[in-house]
Amino acid sequence: MAARIDIAPREEQDCGMATVASELAEGPAVEADRPQEATPGALDARAPTFEGPTPEEIQVPVMLGLDRAITALITALPPLLVALAGWRLWNRELHLRDVLIFLVLYAATGLGVTVGFHRLLTHRSFKTSGWLRGLLAILGTMSIEGPLISWVADHRKHHAYTDRLGDPHSPHVDHGGGWRGALRGLAHAHVGWLFDHAQRGARERFAPDLLADPVVAFVDATFLLWSLLGLAIPFGLGLLIGGTVAAGLDGLLWGGAVRIFALHHVTYSINSLCHFFGRRRFATGDESRNLGWLAPLSFGEAWHNNHHAFPTSAFHGMSRRELDLSGITIAALERAGLVWDVQRIAPERRAAKAL
Ligand SMILES: [Zn+2]
Ligand SMILES: [Zn+2]
Repeated sequence: MAARIDIAPREEQDCGMATVASELAEGPAVEADRPQEATPGALDARAPTFEGPTPEEIQVPVMLGLDRAITALITALPPLLVALAGWRLWNRELHLRDVLIFLVLYAATGLGVTVGFHRLLTHRSFKTSGWLRGLLAILGTMSIEGPLISWVADHRKHHAYTDRLGDPHSPHVDHGGGWRGALRGLAHAHVGWLFDHAQRGARERFAPDLLADPVVAFVDATFLLWSLLGLAIPFGLGLLIGGTVAAGLDGLLWGGAVRIFALHHVTYSINSLCHFFGRRRFATGDESRNLGWLAPLSFGEAWHNNHHAFPTSAFHGMSRRELDLSGITIAALERAGLVWDVQRIAPERRAAKAL
């Protein structure tokens, strides 16, 4: 298990947007207006000058009860359907077409999240045209990980306050000590934070650029439409290949429910496991870690210590042995002339931060 370290204030924020967020975080301290959680003694003892986020940086929940009910449904329904898929697998009722539909949908929506939501829209690690930005935004939205601007606001806040008060999903802040605290922290970072709106990133503060981008704002506002399209496509593929409604339902089961379950938990594992288990290659001042076995499933996002060291890098895998399918995709799109200004980190900068 990872040892807990003291977390010093960031020496350098490599992420452009996190820098914006950090600057915002350093705004005038309005102690009286701070929420109660903003000044816990333990944190003050560790970093006496650290103020935590201002109230304006925390997203005010809208229809909290409904939000939690929908989150509960999206979290609980896929595992139930995964059990049904497991039962069908046991009865040898899995077809090759179901496996193909699963793989196509997993790759398309997974890369939508990693290449689109994360590396393009959160960190601006490359530039592209409006149509490809819109396509990546739609594919990512089909993963049903929430409206994309909220996703980006939460993730930029994670980079601005990594493993400190203000991080929406750190396993290390305010969860107590010992094994119990560790398990509570991991549960919070994995899925619990989705139900807890105390530290969500305010969209206006953390993603004003995306709110002003008509393509991204449209996909964000029509989140439900794309989520449903992500279910209609596997049903349609099953129907088309298998020729029956039953084959369509099989497609929906594997390319819809099982795919959503798998991608959700791989994404959640970056927030939980990759801040807890694995190796640290660079000095980042936080608990981010590289977890090799998760890299192929997460399209390279599990090189998470590399990512926290160099957030704007389009490539999270930083050696030949660090498989990064998102980085390979971006390099291929660059060769095809579809993306440009791809951010790479010079060897000297890597060496300067290497442990
Ligand atoms: Zn992280
Ligand atoms: Zn990031």
